[in-house]
Amino acid sequence: MEGLPVFDDLPGRHAKLKTAFEKLDPKLRVPTQAIGRRYTIGCVAVEITQRCNLDCTLCYLSESSEKVKDIPIALVMERLHRVRAHYGDGVSVQITGGDPTLRKRDELVAIVREAARLGLEPSLMTNGIKLTRDLARELKAAGLTDVAIHVDLTQERKGYATEESLNAIRTEYIERVRGLGLHVIFNTTVFDGNFAEIPALIRFFSKNADVVGLVSFQIQAATGRGVITEKTSDITLPSVRKRIEEACGISLGWDNIRVGHPDCNSVSYVLLAKDRFLDLNADPELFAAIIRETTDIRYGRVNAFKTGFRVCLWALARPAFLFLIVRRLVAFAARHAQAIWTGRREIRKLTLIIHNFMDAAELDPERIAACSFMVATDRGFVSMCAHNAAREYFIRKPLEVATAEGMKVWDPLTGMTLPTVARDEPAPRVLPSVLSEIPGSSLPVFAGGK
Ligand code: SF4
Repeated sequence: MEGLPVFDDLPGRHAKLKTAFEKLDPKLRVPTQAIGRRYTIGCVAVEITQRCNLDCTLCYLSESSEKVKDIPIALVMERLHRVRAHYGDGVSVQITGGDPTLRKRDELVAIVREAARLGLEPSLMTNGIKLTRDLARELKAAGLTDVAIHVDLTQERKGYATEESLNAIRTEYIERVRGLGLHVIFNTTVFDGNFAEIPALIRFFSKNADVVGLVSFQIQAATGRGVITEKTSDITLPSVRKRIEEACGISLGWDNIRVGHPDCNSVSYVLLAKDRFLDLNADPELFAAIIRETTDIRYGRVNAFKTGFRVCLWALARPAFLFLIVRRLVAFAARHAQAIWTGRREIRKLTLIIHNFMDAAELDPERIAACSFMVATDRGFVSMCAHNAAREYFIRKPLEVATAEGMKVWDPLTGMTLPTVARDEPAPRVLPSVLSEIPGSSLPVFAGGK
């Protein structure tokens, strides 16, 4: 494919895409569905510690998270290899936990380096506290592609009573990663305490879109050790969409792009022309064509305009596709000519995502089966919602690990490696009931199991 990087092993990739697509319920196989066409999976979380230096009121970690030791690095590396084998290269892997910056620095760097070496796209998920510029630079050199920083009121940072006041912290973190070539993401948990401040957040992120490429709003879920278990009826996927649209001053074509199940992910791309928001989701036909035509191209997220330009050059050899792009671009530019002209010195792109995690007690088998956000475990890949509901089982479970003396068992509670299994943990209560309700598969939740 001239001039643009492509994924490795295309026959293998196409088979993986086909499997991912066929796993979706037929009603989800719309032309704008990215899973199974462009992505074999949305992303995979590889947890490298359960420890955290915050204690959020909506934390998804579980009661034993501070008790268990960091998983041996050999098992982390094995999980990365399994992500590569099962989902292929170019897959986004979230290096996460807990806060992964609490892991020994040399191990964190080695994990990122190995993920990149395998052709995966490692993202660091962090609250930012220990993310110095020096560490970010070292991780970038090791192959980090994205940094996702979570700052919000659920973290109860001392001296910050509003989301707007937390912008001081966000600004500091933005400066730490500015200019390093990382795709910068900010995560916010939406709950009753900050729902009204979504417009202020949108304003802040749009003003900083020269560095921030993606903003993700995660709707509160009752799971894990978090102490907030209730929410008002205000906090729903439609109401969060609407609040974001009000903040942008336009309607957004959330349903014109699909990543997995529509109740899980809402994605919107916007063009910022100074302080005007322009909806880039308005054209599902164009989006479907881009997914279809560029399925094998690996493109970067850091500089969307450069990537778009390179795709247009590449499309010169595909006249029908090029004609479609040019026709739609001209129509878009004509429709928004005044806003684009007025804001021409400050044109940016921003991606807005809403992720709608489920309560542990309310797992929907249909969404679990279509999950686009998996966690790597010793048994294979499992939906993040299901994993969070049964986190205690996963993090307390003794794990087999290869050592110089052969296979042994690592005990997460002591950190010791023993020749035999030390304890017999009860099976998780949540998972079997979820599994049994998913039709058409005897092993529906664990993908790529050993
Ligand atoms: S099932 Fe849960 S983790 Fe998976 S995509 Fe849906 S909300 Fe996300």
